[in-house]
Amino acid sequence: MPRRILNVIDMPLTQQRIDEFHGLIRPLSIGLQATGFILFLTGWALAAPSYVYPWWEGAALTAGGLFLLYLVSRPGWLVPASFMMIWLLAEGFAMLAQPSPNRAFFTCALGITFALVSAPMFARTRYYMVAVCGMYLILGRGSFIDAEVVGDERWMLLLTLTVLGLGNFVNLTVKRQHVESLRLRKELEFIAFKDPLTGIDNRRRFMQQLPIILQAGQPSDACFLMIDIDNFKKINDDFGHASGDEALILTARAMQSALSEGALGRMGGEEFGIALSGGGLAHAEQVAAKLLQEVRQIHIHARPLTVSIGIARATDHSSVSKVLSAADQALYQAKRAGKDRYVVSA
Ligand code: GH3
Ligand code: MG
Ligand code: MG
Repeated sequence: MPRRILNVIDMPLTQQRIDEFHGLIRPLSIGLQATGFILFLTGWALAAPSYVYPWWEGAALTAGGLFLLYLVSRPGWLVPASFMMIWLLAEGFAMLAQPSPNRAFFTCALGITFALVSAPMFARTRYYMVAVCGMYLILGRGSFIDAEVVGDERWMLLLTLTVLGLGNFVNLTVKRQHVESLRLRKELEFIAFKDPLTGIDNRRRFMQQLPIILQAGQPSDACFLMIDIDNFKKINDDFGHASGDEALILTARAMQSALSEGALGRMGGEEFGIALSGGGLAHAEQVAAKLLQEVRQIHIHARPLTVSIGIARATDHSSVSKVLSAADQALYQAKRAGKDRYVVSA
């Protein structure tokens, strides 16, 4: 049982983590970028009157910044737009600081701010490093250590490397915490919503989804199937509990492969439920026939396994609990009629 839980937790997290991370970081990232852009415009407005800037560069940076703010909120553009925005703002601030005698001071302070503020914004550390090194090169006009500082280059280099190291540390720490919380959530979701033996949805999850699925399509199209393994107690008695467990796992797998839409869950013991949102009775009967066929291929100690199935149509009943009991009655009839068959509720 614990091995199955571990299997799910050990599923590759990378793409899932990155997608989820981008969802989480999007509002913060857009907010930070908008703040940086407003600071650039404010800095420009507050620049000493003697500082002259090429109008076309200021206009291009403003138009580019506005476009990137629009782009960053579009699906799929978060990462590329963040790269471009960091570099665009680095160019903007480098332009503002250019005429100042304190240029080195401003670019140094801006470099530290940029590097630390953008550290939590990247899901991949290598992307962060590319963004921040590019930013330093743009701010320093092609050099990591500001060329205007004479004699202090080693201090500048030390400072820059320290900031890059700290930024990396922040990025890795945020990343590690995110992986940890995602792992924990997956584990809790598994415990809450999955049947640990078969790995399919448990009763709690299935019953949550059932009303949604039964009411999803045209009501007359939705059907519920109640499935019960035949003579299951005998498998336990004749071959032991472990063989019974194996029969449950193999039946769940057969049902998963017989199903292309809808929901499947273990209702309890050797009973399973399937909810189909479309296709009506014809589709439900097709699924049931396929299922009977697939389960017959399963052998437990050379004894073929069979199931009985009760089918009920959602529209024929006024509530989910009535659909369930109608399917249950149909299942009972299938058992009485000799098992290994399906019966549709009258
Ligand atoms: P029928 O053909 O009429 O459905 O008879 P049956 O023997 O399949 O049904 P019955 O309800 O008499 O027996 C169900 C058994 O399933 C009783 C219980 O011990 C066993 N069972 C319930 N949960 C598990 C489980 O997780 N693992 C195993 N191995 N057995 C289980
Ligand atoms: Mg039963
Ligand atoms: Mg049974």
